[in-house]
Amino acid sequence: MTRGERVYVALGSNMGDRAAHLAHARERLARLPATRLLAASRVEETAPIGPVTQGPYLNQMVLLETGLEPAELLGQLHAIELERGRVRRERWGPRTLDLDIVRWDGRAVQNPDLTIPHPELSNRDFWLREIADLDTEPSPRD
Ligand code: AMP
Repeated sequence: MTRGERVYVALGSNMGDRAAHLAHARERLARLPATRLLAASRVEETAPIGPVTQGPYLNQMVLLETGLEPAELLGQLHAIELERGRVRRERWGPRTLDLDIVRWDGRAVQNPDLTIPHPELSNRDFWLREIADLDTEPSPRD
């Protein structure tokens, strides 16, 4: 693969076997076309955000190097979410697997389907912690 661009993708789950959903996502992301998984942050448990009563989340951030375009990567993320039975019921509601493009080095995207950097980045301390974790720890982890 020619050298790609560095992208931070957030993984989140608060339904079913949360660790297994994250493991599935890591495995699938590592096998995407023109893509390598460079590193994975620690897994963190976080309280749910927003008005809906639901269980705590497991969160993790991965760093990818990819030759995909942002819209292509988003399409792949949706496909992986669907493999874990993701049903888009309500905004802020519980989910088996949620995958978000948080940051794409050297790029900004603003269209109806995709905003990069993710608009919630500065509001989510755990994303900022996980990015810092990735930037100091280059080896992949579970
Ligand atoms: P969610 O319910 O959090 O999974 O968000 C659903 C929609 O957010 C997706 O279908 C995307 O079109 C849109 N979206 C906008 N910006 C982003 C981003 N940076 N990463 C992932 N999804 C995004």
